[in-house]
Amino acid sequence: MFENLSDRLGGVFDRLTKQGALTEDDVTAAMREVRVALLEADVSLSVARNFVKAVTQKATGSAVTKSITPGQQVVKIVHDELIKVLQGEGAPDQLRIDNPPAPILMVGLQGSGKTTTTAKLAKRLKDREKKRVLMASLDTNRPAAMEQLAILGQQVGVDTLPIVPGENAVQIAKRAKQQATLGGYDVYMLDTAGRLHIDEVLMDEVQAVRDVANPRETLLVVDGLTGQDAVNVASEFDEKVGVSGVVLTRMDGDGRGGAALSMRAVTGKPIRFVGVGEKMDAIEVFDASRVAGRILG
Ligand code: GDP
Repeated sequence: MFENLSDRLGGVFDRLTKQGALTEDDVTAAMREVRVALLEADVSLSVARNFVKAVTQKATGSAVTKSITPGQQVVKIVHDELIKVLQGEGAPDQLRIDNPPAPILMVGLQGSGKTTTTAKLAKRLKDREKKRVLMASLDTNRPAAMEQLAILGQQVGVDTLPIVPGENAVQIAKRAKQQATLGGYDVYMLDTAGRLHIDEVLMDEVQAVRDVANPRETLLVVDGLTGQDAVNVASEFDEKVGVSGVVLTRMDGDGRGGAALSMRAVTGKPIRFVGVGEKMDAIEVFDASRVAGRILG
């Protein structure tokens, strides 16, 4: 997931921990390398800069440099700062899916993994939380996308709203709500249409759906391999439709990891889940301390 970044940081910290005594200059030099490694992982400049500043401030105090194991202390500080930047302050967020039927709006660009993630999450809610879930595809432009969701639904044993040709996205959202209420579902997930780029038509449609569905959660699905672009997409979606959480997909690939590290700090939005493969159970709850551990190897 973070192979390159992990290798780079591993090299820096190996040297630090082997060195024994540390001067402030040693720490500063190491932090310069950390900054370059973060930027090469496509972490945003401001996040990399603030990160290094915070670590340097904490690591150059005499308590660290005069300790018996200064290198290890620096690594511990880096670990804690990584958690902070990945998670923000406070406890990790939970999905708000009480008061059935709870609508979850799934948004994102085409190809981000939105439909796959909708089905993965539905399966997770069904299997782990014993929720009755209904999924509906709102992608009226691409009948294939609607069929894809229906097929995935069958595969994971989750109901999908029957396809009625000729309806628009808002009509489908209303029908999903009705069906979820009448059918006694706990959660209904609206898989909105994606487009290749953010444009007004896409945003207008998502806003219209949001206004009728009044979602408890609006989850943005973004491709984790796209680094800073993923963060830009998140900022834009949040500004236009309001996002409650982010799902980063393709974190099984050898992406540079920057999206995970910048997302919370730049957008203020929590990463809730990460996609780690094409299979229906290849999704994990985002856990900042586990991710920090993986980055530090
Ligand atoms: P959508 O257009 O946003 O709905 O994207 P899809 O859900 O159709 O996904 C596009 C492709 O990405 C499919 O081939 C998925 O199997 C694949 N995909 C989605 N999530 C992941 C992931 O976490 N890891 C990997 N390796 N592939 C994924």
